[in-house]
Amino acid sequence: MLTERKVATLLARNAEVLVTMDGSRRELRGAGLYAVDGFIRQVGPTPELPEAADVVLDLRGQIVLPGLVNTHHHLNQTLTRAFPAAQDAALFDWLSAQYPAWTRIDAEASRVSTLVGLAELLLSGCTTAFDHTYLYRNGNSVDVQVEAAGEIGIRFHASRGSMSVGRSKGGLPPDEAVEDEASILKDSARVIDRFHDPCPGAMTRVVLAPCAPFSVSEDLLRESAALGRARGVRLHTHLAETRDEERYTLERFGVRPVEWMDRLGWVASDVWFAHAVHVSDAEIARFARDGCAVAHCPSSNMRLASGIAPVRKYLAAGVSVGLGVDGSASNDSSNLLLEARQAMLLARLARGLRAQEGEARAGEWMSAREALELATIGGARVLGRDDIGALEAGRCADFFSLDLGAVEYAGALHDPVAATVFCAPTRARFTVVHGRVVVEDGRVATLDMGPVIERHNRLAASLTAAS
Ligand SMILES: [Zn+2]
Repeated sequence: MLTERKVATLLARNAEVLVTMDGSRRELRGAGLYAVDGFIRQVGPTPELPEAADVVLDLRGQIVLPGLVNTHHHLNQTLTRAFPAAQDAALFDWLSAQYPAWTRIDAEASRVSTLVGLAELLLSGCTTAFDHTYLYRNGNSVDVQVEAAGEIGIRFHASRGSMSVGRSKGGLPPDEAVEDEASILKDSARVIDRFHDPCPGAMTRVVLAPCAPFSVSEDLLRESAALGRARGVRLHTHLAETRDEERYTLERFGVRPVEWMDRLGWVASDVWFAHAVHVSDAEIARFARDGCAVAHCPSSNMRLASGIAPVRKYLAAGVSVGLGVDGSASNDSSNLLLEARQAMLLARLARGLRAQEGEARAGEWMSAREALELATIGGARVLGRDDIGALEAGRCADFFSLDLGAVEYAGALHDPVAATVFCAPTRARFTVVHGRVVVEDGRVATLDMGPVIERHNRLAASLTAAS
């Protein structure tokens, strides 16, 4: 017998301020939104919205922002946060100190660490997360992470990442951390077929993501790009993160990292790079011309002393920029609202350093609202999506609220929008993904996190004890 499917409606009302991030960047007072089946039907002043829905959130005293979009992460690394041997090291030494522990990650450790990182993201207002996993051993697979993301309720872009050049062939990772290229490509095709959803409102998409120039081959980069393009999925890798990487590509390939990628067809509109710190003006212009995008990860770049990405130059040139918490062992948090604050502060430090050189120009301040743009609509562009990142009719009902009565915002309510970035970040009161309440009153509503955290700590201890 056929039963009529019930339409699910959600009404969020009475927000003190609602930041739309729409084309005219409207900020509405006393407003809310109405959603049907996960898509926004209406945004506006509360009196103009429908009066009832299946789920009604009264957001009095709260500010509502579009769900934040994370464009670079390694969720499994929550298992090695503050790892003693990697606390005070730059990228190559930091990686080398942790590879042995990471090669022991199995399916359960991957599942639990994915849940922990995603919970932290959701509690910071993130509703769409990209993860760049590139180590698949001991039964770990993309499937484990996609399942965990579905369980907790976040919108998830999973990578089928990879490493294929171990130490014996001139790469950085130990040989036991890499896979053979035929297996990588076969599993990449399987994962795309199984999980990639190209439709508007998709909860799961797949990205092909060979790890970095110092851990994958020319062939794998070319083949991954060909497969990704044949199947319509985006491509991602780390690039120009450190001077050490630049020295590596110059010595091994005779060119700088961006030139290396360009030769392999990787500077293109379906690609985004993590970090892209050490780039010339000509390389920025090339990114702009070819439409490739950047995931800016300020905390990681500071933590590993990698450098300062030229974000103002990217934006001035028209390059799409989103934010990534990266890590989680190079941050060592998954708090995306905090990352927006770090992006604003680091851009200001960069301006200050240029001013000392006599190069600063007017208009180079990154404002709080610009940092929020990077974290929302900017991230959506980087992931190639026009259905998230803003609150307007037709887009996904992805948003979060912050309690303006929190002590952190006291004295800053003349501009609540700027306060969310200038002041210390607070935990989301509500986080809603595709019309579903995933964080409620500051707690993950879909999962009991207590036992997950306990298990995570036990797994982290056993992984690192053996290192
Ligand atoms: Zn990374």
